[in-house]
Amino acid sequence: MGPEFSTQKPETKLIQRKMPVDEMDIIKDVKSGVIKKIVMLTGPEVSLASSFPDIHSFSKQCVDLISGDIPYPEAFLTKTYYSKSPQILNDLVRRILGHSYNPNAVHKFIKDMEDKKLLVKNYTACIDNLQIKAGSSPSLIIQFNGNIEDGYCDECKKNVLTESYLGAIKNGEELKCTECKNVVRPRITLLGEAYSKELANCAKNIRNSDLLIIIGASSLPIPISNMISYATEATPRLFIGESMPELKRMNKRDGDIFLTGDILSIIKDLSIKLDEIPK
Ligand SMILES: [Zn+2]
Repeated sequence: MGPEFSTQKPETKLIQRKMPVDEMDIIKDVKSGVIKKIVMLTGPEVSLASSFPDIHSFSKQCVDLISGDIPYPEAFLTKTYYSKSPQILNDLVRRILGHSYNPNAVHKFIKDMEDKKLLVKNYTACIDNLQIKAGSSPSLIIQFNGNIEDGYCDECKKNVLTESYLGAIKNGEELKCTECKNVVRPRITLLGEAYSKELANCAKNIRNSDLLIIIGASSLPIPISNMISYATEATPRLFIGESMPELKRMNKRDGDIFLTGDILSIIKDLSIKLDEIPK
């Protein structure tokens, strides 16, 4: 049997839809079932709200760990640098994981969207693994920059059990791959490395969604900032961030909805309204 092609023309459906103009319209559309498929993009502000460091403080901490000169702070996070000095990254991970981090209101909101059967996928640049700790299904959470709590062998690609990896990291031990004896590294995407292959479906999921929510929108890294433009004119975009995002790459358009300020307060308010407002 050959491939099946859909005869549905999403553009036709789009024109018929009355687009929301503010968050209250969005809530009403969720309540009435107009919005059934939500894609969420989350950036480093969500990590910071749980006191998990972003790439800048990450890099700054790396500088503290090194005595020699480096060309620029983020150089530690390049594959080239890691290949030369793998222990620096592992030392940094040890430092970071020496603190505990807890899911915040954003993670709970995303889990709630899953429980309400509204979440298609959450694509996140965050490496803190907090969305999984909040109870989300791993199949719905695409951590395309990886996850600091997992380890693997860069040489033979063998996975290492999270418990073994975390145990070694926290004890200050250098964990070696059982197959090839290479030093095990954290499963985070270094600068210059490819993102998770699952990111390939992001554009399709955004195009087919009824709503795109971007949380932590004021400092979005590539490729999240590029993905946003995949939303069609029929998919409303709700931006939530500490400040207004830089929208050059995202094709700012009429109908975009912005909620700026403390992201935890904004999300808590949205959650309350979602639960309070009748259909
Ligand atoms: Zn190996």
